[in-house]
Amino acid sequence: MSAIAFPSPSHIAVYATLTLANFPFVIAIDRYAKRHAVHKVYDVTPDRKQIAREIKNSLTTTPVHAVLLAAFVESGAFRLGTESVRSILLTFLIALAWTEIWHYASHRAMHWKPLHFIHREHHRSWATGPWTSVSFSVLEKLIFSLRILGGMAALSRVAAVSVYGVTVYYLVYFFTNGLGHSNIEIRSSRYHDTFLGRIFNTPTFHAMHHARYIRNYGLLTPFPDRIFGTAWADAEQVQRRVSTGAPLRKLNERIPC
Ligand SMILES: [Zn+2]
Ligand SMILES: [Zn+2]
Repeated sequence: MSAIAFPSPSHIAVYATLTLANFPFVIAIDRYAKRHAVHKVYDVTPDRKQIAREIKNSLTTTPVHAVLLAAFVESGAFRLGTESVRSILLTFLIALAWTEIWHYASHRAMHWKPLHFIHREHHRSWATGPWTSVSFSVLEKLIFSLRILGGMAALSRVAAVSVYGVTVYYLVYFFTNGLGHSNIEIRSSRYHDTFLGRIFNTPTFHAMHHARYIRNYGLLTPFPDRIFGTAWADAEQVQRRVSTGAPLRKLNERIPC
């Protein structure tokens, strides 16, 4: 009878990190927003019970990524190669690009009526805060992470991938997703005139998605929304305005353009 193979100590450290790491990011962004003179995107008061509901949801959703990664790695579905800086970086970049495509497609699909029940819990927060970034139905997080890891497992059949590269991707995702839901604009009013501003979204982009419920489906980059015509026409104008310290006062407020 073969012995049961336990995860290596380094893999256990990865799974433990991924289980817990979302919380310090969210708490740090939340504290920063409360202690500094930030530029709010929406100056509206969230539902009184919102944060309690979001924290409750986070307890069931934050371990999902670690549990699925452990299942893929320890079952052998994920073929791992020799770890190196190059393999970590390449895996990270591929996971980043794949997730942008996958997230846009699945997010749009979940706004389709028959599938919307999966995504409804996340959208109960009309005005977002850092804790909204960990408030989902378990099914939504399972689908999100299954597809990321399924894509990386398929890739690993032809080119070995790095478990640390995937881990770095998740850590970057936790941080950027916390910022994306923070309801604070961190960039200047000239951000969209810069090289980075043409490639990456700011928190305003996703805050508008929650407030208006549709459009602006993308995660880090606006390209999919631009290609498929699903970006809000005033997204850039809203970012320019709120970054000067003039937030939107109502969830349905528009800027003529
Ligand atoms: Zn949505
Ligand atoms: Zn969201």
